[in-house]
Amino acid sequence: MNTWFTELQTQAVSLGLKVSRVLWHEQTPYQELAVLDTVPFGRMLVLDGAIQTTIQDEFVYHEMITHVPLTLHPQPRKVAVIGGGDGGAIREILKHPSVEEAHLIEIDEKVVEASKRFLPEISEALDDERAHVHFTDGIRWVQEARDFDLIIVDSTDPVGPAEGLFVPEFYRSIYDALSENGIMVAQSESPFLQPHIIQRVMTGVSQSFPVTRLYLAAIPTYPSGLWSFTLGSKETLGTPRSVSFPTRYWTPEIQRSCFALPRFVEDLIR
Ligand code: SAM
Repeated sequence: MNTWFTELQTQAVSLGLKVSRVLWHEQTPYQELAVLDTVPFGRMLVLDGAIQTTIQDEFVYHEMITHVPLTLHPQPRKVAVIGGGDGGAIREILKHPSVEEAHLIEIDEKVVEASKRFLPEISEALDDERAHVHFTDGIRWVQEARDFDLIIVDSTDPVGPAEGLFVPEFYRSIYDALSENGIMVAQSESPFLQPHIIQRVMTGVSQSFPVTRLYLAAIPTYPSGLWSFTLGSKETLGTPRSVSFPTRYWTPEIQRSCFALPRFVEDLIR
């Protein structure tokens, strides 16, 4: 087989990748799930036609959604990821020696099942004894959660089950679930193609958190290639710690520079 997968990113923009094999395809109770082998980026997880992660570029997203907030917390012990069923964020979190528990709250068991089967490089840490996997809706789960040092929202786009992960009430529940100096981070889409989502997330997070920051990373398989993350903190952010393990995208310099925003992005969140 040698055909093209096309992701319709907006009504006027699409990304095409050459596919060598369809490895898996199913309709789960929540979404259409596919695992494709692509020529340029290797194996790739797709949910409802939207690219979630690929073997070749997943390191950028997973390092940036985890190490940026983790190095800003003085001693992260208890961490949660809402969504993130591929396991990549949990893998990076567990590289931090202070972390005692990493909880994954994924609504769709089939995403974890397919990731374990077809993307073992990404999902490998889900079997670590510090990893706890909960198959439930993150919106409900967070209402009962307490004393987390960091909560990461590693969600699909704001449609279907993920819609409630982009509203101010959800960020308020996260605030309540965090410890005194807790931090949250949410993936907040592309400044070129979804500027209104960045504005929505920033506004929502700033209604609960006194400190909010936006940061960017270059991810080739996400819409426009430039991706944003919104961070909320209960306390003023200190100097980031360094890390004792190898990384492929994150460096202490990237940690500082990722918060430097192009003027048009600054204007978006002003
Ligand atoms: N890195 C990815 C991206 O930006 O495209 C997201 C990856 S991860 C696979 C997203 C996960 O969020 C999906 O597996 C989906 O099932 C999960 N999800 C969506 N809504 C959810 C909810 N309300 N509670 C928990 N998980 C949810």
